[in-house]
Amino acid sequence: MITLLNISKTYTLKNESFQALNDVSLHIDEQEIIGIVGLSGAGKSTLVRCMNGLIKPTSGQVIIDGINIHDLKQEDLNRMRHDISMIFQHFNLVSNLTVFQNIKLALNIKNSPKNLRDQKVMEALDLVGLSDKKNRYPKELSGGEKQRVGIARAIVNQPKYLLCDEATSGLDQKTAYDIVSLLKEIHQKTKITIVFITHQIEIIKDLCNRVVVMDQGKIIEDRSTKDLFINPFSDITKSLIKQVIDEPTHLKDKHYLELIYHHEHVNDTILSQMIKTYDIDVNIHFAKTLTIGSQTIGYLYLEMIGNHKTKAIEYLRSNDIEVKEYA
Ligand code: ADP
Repeated sequence: MITLLNISKTYTLKNESFQALNDVSLHIDEQEIIGIVGLSGAGKSTLVRCMNGLIKPTSGQVIIDGINIHDLKQEDLNRMRHDISMIFQHFNLVSNLTVFQNIKLALNIKNSPKNLRDQKVMEALDLVGLSDKKNRYPKELSGGEKQRVGIARAIVNQPKYLLCDEATSGLDQKTAYDIVSLLKEIHQKTKITIVFITHQIEIIKDLCNRVVVMDQGKIIEDRSTKDLFINPFSDITKSLIKQVIDEPTHLKDKHYLELIYHHEHVNDTILSQMIKTYDIDVNIHFAKTLTIGSQTIGYLYLEMIGNHKTKAIEYLRSNDIEVKEYA
């Protein structure tokens, strides 16, 4: 378990100071996959680096499995870090070592039993699907393959926690989703706890059940992924989600409604019932579905014309449809 209690971090540069984290508290359960999203500069990297002791908070506690890690002596912290692995946007591979050697390095550093090291490397390579590239050097790999090596290196010591810092941000969309699938597969097999930070909310939706949104060094939402997408509270979250659903810009001068609904919960005939019951004309501009794990959320953008619009909207809301009006 990872518990952050009232974490603040102030950076001081020359005579200027900047508060990157402002009283952040967060609890992450074992085996969870949690996403931390926010715009660039929100404090995500600082927060995740506090979790493995790379950054010491100015105040507050980072408690991992009952131990306040910032109270540990450096050698004890180093030992603890073997349980808290990390992967990075730029992979951080050693360029003059092969794939095999890069992964083995993690075992050497941990001083794991020598006779088992090669076997462990091969198992990790097998897990990330790179056994056939073990003798290549990093420059001979694609971005996605480099990240697979990064993941193999991070999990070869069988850590309890995997911190992912913008791990898919440098990759094209298809490769990013491949990496997400791989992380899900690894989670299923190993039950490793994953903390995934990114500015790409679309990546989170397929990976995490829970999402934390950060802005200006604070946590502004901490919700299930599904709830976050259906009913985002903050403007930041709304704008992050809008990027994913690709809201049509041609609606911006119109008075329109946004309907958000779960496919499973909503009776297919609700819209036609509403039209008949309340004598409403509907002009549909745009529709889109978004799959979050095993659930599908629908977004429908439309104009409604009629004298009983308010009642019609109430009817939709009473049938589990979120309705937002845009003027
Ligand atoms: P994010 O990961 O959300 O982009 P960061 O945690 O990297 O955010 O940064 C949060 C804020 O702290 C940014 O404004 C950044 O410029 C500042 N910051 C990060 N690291 C340092 C540092 N070492 N020194 C000074 N300011 C920093």
